[in-house]
Amino acid sequence: MKYLYKTPQLLKWYYPSLIWDFTTAEKCVYLTFDDGPTKEYTLWILEELEKYNAKATFFCIGNNVENYPKEFEEIIQQGHSVGNHTYNHMNGWNNSLLSYMRDVRKCETVFNSTLFRPPHGRMSNKQRAVLSKEFKVIMWDVLSGDFDTSLSGEECAEAVIDHTTNGSIIVFHDSKKAAERLKNALPIVLETLTAQGYTFKAIE
Ligand SMILES: [Zn+2]
Repeated sequence: MKYLYKTPQLLKWYYPSLIWDFTTAEKCVYLTFDDGPTKEYTLWILEELEKYNAKATFFCIGNNVENYPKEFEEIIQQGHSVGNHTYNHMNGWNNSLLSYMRDVRKCETVFNSTLFRPPHGRMSNKQRAVLSKEFKVIMWDVLSGDFDTSLSGEECAEAVIDHTTNGSIIVFHDSKKAAERLKNALPIVLETLTAQGYTFKAIE
């Protein structure tokens, strides 16, 4: 299997230092957008969120923030939160602790955050140990699959809606690769979950 829409409980228990979801009785969810900002899609995402008074968390690539500072500023201005997603979207499995942390630090020189999400969800044990001391390492509970070109936007939306529960952390992507599915899925998800009584919060 390539990936699961819903993170299995076993995995959450196995890595308790990572944040997979939030325990809450409140009907709220945490939308997250990885890999931006982008010139093409960030502002569109922000407009969609605003229609539903939704707050979200953007895990930004340092290099993209340097390239698109206006889009980044807009995320902050509209009251969303941001997290470190390394400077070069580095894959932890292919890099030593030293070079990985150097990339994390380089992202920190561009913007500050106490939140971190590893690109591809991949970290070595050492990387995880170091990072979870310094950051709240935010994983996820529900994957939209918007990066999967074999899916339609409607299928992504359905996967999110089916697997969301109170306190879920949901992953979308602010990227060219995901855009076709995101543009269909996000409005459906916002509308449907709002109708079900959910509100959307940024991770503090
Ligand atoms: Zn990423």
